[in-house]
Amino acid sequence: MKHLIMVIEDEEALALMLKYNLEKEGYDVLIESRGNKALAEIGRHHPSVILLDWMLPEISGVEICKLLRSNPELKTIPVIMLTAKGQEEDKIKGLSAGADDYVTKPFSIPELMARVKSQLRRVPEPHQEKEYRFEDIRMDLSEKKVFRGDTYIHLGPTEFRLLKTLMQVPGKVLSRDYLLKTVWGDNIYVESRTVDVHIRRLRKSLNEHGPDYIRTVRATGYSIDINPVNEAEQ
Ligand code: CA
Repeated sequence: MKHLIMVIEDEEALALMLKYNLEKEGYDVLIESRGNKALAEIGRHHPSVILLDWMLPEISGVEICKLLRSNPELKTIPVIMLTAKGQEEDKIKGLSAGADDYVTKPFSIPELMARVKSQLRRVPEPHQEKEYRFEDIRMDLSEKKVFRGDTYIHLGPTEFRLLKTLMQVPGKVLSRDYLLKTVWGDNIYVESRTVDVHIRRLRKSLNEHGPDYIRTVRATGYSIDINPVNEAEQ
């Protein structure tokens, strides 16, 4: 699998030139020119690195960067800001919005490629883990689907992330605080009771088709475990 680099740039000639050079380096490239669409595409494709223009129609690059950083699923994707503004103040703005690097136009292609490569060092090889399995539960991560045996289980996005977090470390008890941070993100205020509500929903969907493997550990949190020793719940 190749790394996917997403170029969010409304200057078509520049976007195409970047695409050409990135493909020459062996990456897959996706171009997007509008802010709103770009956000949706990032969620769908999970690129390895994002090259993000500062000035875009609809939503600015800085806003996109902030939105990415508050999204628990997308916040670790490295972002390199591209900008015509060379002002120190803008650089600080970009970096405090959560950009990992900052390149001022016009830039040299070899320099940009070196910066992309440097960000890729912290990114795992693409699609290393395509699915998680626990007993008869299978999560297809690329399709974002859950099955018990052959039965498709419909889960809401929060329940999906919750199950994914539990299935990453089977047998390990995860605290409500940890689950809140991982599933909902740092920036969103949710009560820890919310975790219980979504666990209940997750159980309801999963347990229609098999035994309950979600374990409640009183005053601590939850785990997914082969021994369904559920202490008094609810
Ligand atoms: Ca622009």
